[in-house]
Amino acid sequence: MIDLTKFCDLGREHFKEPWSYGEHSFATDGRIAVRTQRDQSVSGKELHRININSIIQEAESKPRHDWATPPLAIGNTYKCARCKGEGCVYECAECNGLGELTFQTSFNTYNIECESCCGRGRMIRDAWLNTFGAFHNLIKFKLECDMCCGTGVIAEYDRVKIHGCTFAGKYISLIGELPAAQISVSEDSIGISLFRFDGGVGALMPIMPGYGE
Ligand SMILES: [Zn+2]
Ligand SMILES: [Zn+2]
Repeated sequence: MIDLTKFCDLGREHFKEPWSYGEHSFATDGRIAVRTQRDQSVSGKELHRININSIIQEAESKPRHDWATPPLAIGNTYKCARCKGEGCVYECAECNGLGELTFQTSFNTYNIECESCCGRGRMIRDAWLNTFGAFHNLIKFKLECDMCCGTGVIAEYDRVKIHGCTFAGKYISLIGELPAAQISVSEDSIGISLFRFDGGVGALMPIMPGYGE
């Protein structure tokens, strides 16, 4: 089965998990969307997420270039700056991960930034051990790093241009990992392109011309 969580955005409520509806399972992060045959292990329900069927249908009705193997995305990997490559971070034991502390007097309520974690709520291993190691058990505070999704590395890809459409390289790389992947690029440089693979289809938004240049 395809790992649909790779197409999600963990940081956004509507996009943080795949869901199943009818005969299919779906995932999207808002820029890439994917639909597979129903995966019984995907239990999330369709509630308020975007309608991927209609996005795919609309892209199918517009002029597109022929199906082709996606090009290789060129990229580099870096050690994750947030977790220093460990893949996990540790919840601050002073503020319980909130980044701030609340005090009440008879007259007022005060919110102050937590000094142990500098307001971040999370700490790397060494800093945590130096601060709390004598008082708490590190393991209980361990969390997956949400910047690198627990991998310890961040991959940065160059943009990829296909038939005049520009795409974020990370998506072309993601599509390239799918079995027997092919992409059919929109003839309109701001239109939605389609991709297909063994077991599913998907839609990909281009980077709008001039955006972030
Ligand atoms: Zn703190
Ligand atoms: Zn990390």
